[in-house]
Amino acid sequence: MALIVQKYGGSSVADAESIKRVARRIIETQKKGNDVVVVVSAMGDTTDELIDQALSIDSNPPAREMDMLMTAGERISMSLLAMAIHAQGEKAHSFTGSQAGFMTDTQYGAAHIRAVKPDRVKAAIGNGEIAIVAGFQGVNSRGDATTLGRGGSDTSAVALAVALGADVCEIYTDVDGVFTADPRIVPTAQRIESITYDAILEMAASGSKVLALRCVEYARRFQMPIHVRSSFSKRKGTIVLGTYADLDSIPNRD
Ligand code: ASP
Ligand code: MG
Repeated sequence: MALIVQKYGGSSVADAESIKRVARRIIETQKKGNDVVVVVSAMGDTTDELIDQALSIDSNPPAREMDMLMTAGERISMSLLAMAIHAQGEKAHSFTGSQAGFMTDTQYGAAHIRAVKPDRVKAAIGNGEIAIVAGFQGVNSRGDATTLGRGGSDTSAVALAVALGADVCEIYTDVDGVFTADPRIVPTAQRIESITYDAILEMAASGSKVLALRCVEYARRFQMPIHVRSSFSKRKGTIVLGTYADLDSIPNRD
């Protein structure tokens, strides 16, 4: 039995229908005999909308209040996703970053993860529940909510996968993985079957944004394989891993 962390980005949970679709996919993964832990981003453009709302009230909002506000986006999606799983007859339990044990420094808006102690997530897995964790957030030593910087849910997912000793961290997006060029612009672009952490960091440095930089660095440090794939198709995506890692050892690749 594999332990799989799945991260769903904002475009994959943009509305109620998408949330139900993602819930079905999570349940399918569990029914195949895997333990599944999910990290979720805020729905659609929620984070941008929250920022606009804040700026319409205070042109220079206190960083602490900004983080308090922004962590609300992921709370909405995590609880709705847990409800969607419940409505489909399975057990799910949602956790904020703080509840999931993400301890960070005090740098609001760009906090660094200092430790991940996912005791409650482990307990949920032990009870046969699907744990749904809010991405992009943690708690600092003052007990205040912090955010990890835009796009930070990818990093949350990898950090949680590492802390749980997961077999793979699957990152779901709206494209079928990593391509030789942008498939929306270059129709002959090919999907890359697998790629090393170093190669993807080079791509990121040259402006291609597939995964958040910090997330890949974190994965490389702990050699956590990442499977980048689409939540809108069942096709195989791209595996990001170390030079000597074994591609065939990665679960859930059908
Ligand atoms: N919701 C946050 C953002 O839009 C975090 C994320 O999506 O990873 O930046
Ligand atoms: Mg987002």
